[in-house]
Amino acid sequence: KADRQLAKYLANLGYGSRKEIEAAIRKGRVTGEGDALRFDGAPVDPPPGMVILMNKPAGLTCSRQDQGRLVYELLPPRYLKRTPALSTVGRLDADTTGLLLFTDDGKLLHRLISPKSDMPKTYDATLARPLEGHEADLFASGELMLRGEDKPLLPATLEITGERTARLTLTEGRYHQVRRMFAAAGNHVEALHRANFGLLTLGDLPVGDWRHLTAEEIAALG
Ligand code: URA
Repeated sequence: KADRQLAKYLANLGYGSRKEIEAAIRKGRVTGEGDALRFDGAPVDPPPGMVILMNKPAGLTCSRQDQGRLVYELLPPRYLKRTPALSTVGRLDADTTGLLLFTDDGKLLHRLISPKSDMPKTYDATLARPLEGHEADLFASGELMLRGEDKPLLPATLEITGERTARLTLTEGRYHQVRRMFAAAGNHVEALHRANFGLLTLGDLPVGDWRHLTAEEIAALG
């Protein structure tokens, strides 16, 4: 009975079918227990309730199934077989780089991507043309209407960091929002990088790398 429960637990973490895992248990490939559980000598992945922070490279899409390369490729293949399923917290465009979160916690996911969530997200944008000086007021106005929408954008903060670079902080996440905001201001985003999500930053995480958030970091996400 204990072995069957253990097999079910590990199957939900993506280690194989229950049958395969029961066979592995009989062969002694599963050792330890609780937090010290090991499969083939390696520590078993975290239980449900995990959050992953990735430094997303350009060229990968946030979809679970798509033509082309997916952000999930950078994670262990097991992670796509987990129940509950792992998904990205919102999406970044394929061309966008930087801070991307994943979670298997449905409640946390919905809280973070809800239109009511006021979690600030910071983006560094590189523009095709020099900034003109009117953009910060336009974005802060709370009156900017994107094409095809019927509600104005909430006020957003723009900090000019160079002739063609700026840091934009948003509390919403509408489809292609940053690119569409600069388009509404008569410019064009050439490169986009998300630097922060709430209090989370990339730190010195290399491009393409990822890490699990600590329990404290998860609690701070709310
Ligand atoms: N806004 C965009 O336009 N693209 C992103 O990837 C994220 C925010």
